[in-house]
Amino acid sequence: MENSGPERYDLIIQGGRVIDPAQNLDGVRDVALREGKVARLAENLPRSAARRVLEARGKIVVPGLIDLHAHVFPDVGPYGIDPDPYCLHRGVTTVIDAGTSGALTFPAFRRFVIDRARTRIRALLHVVAIGMVAGSTPRLGELEDLRYCVPEMAVRVAEENRGTIVGFKIRFSRQYTASHDYEGMLRAQSVRDRCNLPLMVHIGNSYTPLSKLLPLMRQGDVVTHIYHSHRHGILDSKGRLRREVLEARRRGVLFDVGHGAGSFSFDVVERCLAQDFLPDTISSDLYSANVHGPVFDLVTTLSKFLLLGMSLSEVLRRATVNAAAVFDLGAKVGTLQPGAEADLSVLELQEGEFTFIDADGQSRLGKQKLAPVVTIKGGELYEPMEEASR
Ligand SMILES: [Zn+2]
Repeated sequence: MENSGPERYDLIIQGGRVIDPAQNLDGVRDVALREGKVARLAENLPRSAARRVLEARGKIVVPGLIDLHAHVFPDVGPYGIDPDPYCLHRGVTTVIDAGTSGALTFPAFRRFVIDRARTRIRALLHVVAIGMVAGSTPRLGELEDLRYCVPEMAVRVAEENRGTIVGFKIRFSRQYTASHDYEGMLRAQSVRDRCNLPLMVHIGNSYTPLSKLLPLMRQGDVVTHIYHSHRHGILDSKGRLRREVLEARRRGVLFDVGHGAGSFSFDVVERCLAQDFLPDTISSDLYSANVHGPVFDLVTTLSKFLLLGMSLSEVLRRATVNAAAVFDLGAKVGTLQPGAEADLSVLELQEGEFTFIDADGQSRLGKQKLAPVVTIKGGELYEPMEEASR
């Protein structure tokens, strides 16, 4: 098979430092793509073996990044951003929309965004039928009126859109829920169990203490915004990890970053890392109010963990193979093993002095920064855009 012709591959990405945590690989390799799949990883593939060669010497080549938490349903409510400029063109080939849409708005999300975007989009359906249309408008939060939280509606839409809807989402902050978070959690549990799909729970300033909500989460469910500095975080008043948090991790509940504009404190991260509590996945929670800072994009969020002392491959693991395992994405992504989707991100690890800002306005100085160079998906190349459209 390998000798069938002079041009055996569609594209070779040549000479980059390939980091694929799924295979514990970190070394200079050529990556050959054929018919939308990774065909081969090897040292020194001949240039003549491909129709096209992309030079990646001095760059880092990784599986297309997976952002487990972002908001990519524009114009329906205040959060959504266009997926392609902010995700695909910036290294992310697969994005999980974390509950921007609910049963009443998902059909429009699917038709006008998911089916049209070049970025691979999977959705967590908000358990509340209106999704996040009201944003953080005072007294209009999605769980302030429990009549919008109808388990039957969420179950029906999730079943009708299996494969695109890969789980559920609910937000627990008192400004969106009033005193209804515990009842919302019970309904979310019911939806989750009826569809047997994971539930992602947004924490931070909840009405009900986290220690009462966490026991209702089960293996495969995801806590997001784990490093926020508001009431009812994962640390107790003495800065120690709560017992319920450690129990949840032992049970198989996953802990995701979800940086956002209000949910990432360097102080909290540092205290957690000092107690060996690392995130399972690193996501951006990218939305309209943070694309111009402090989040910017997923690679900037990843860079913050480099300055906090995690290794490059351990950071990348949390946006590739770990992220791919959380939901059933229906595609082999998050790795460059032969047969995987030909989703790749070529990144640059810049050296210098970089100031990074958290969601509380605190800053830290880093010596390295990841930057997107080019993303490859579906045989097309995508470079960062100067001015993203929204
Ligand atoms: Zn979010």
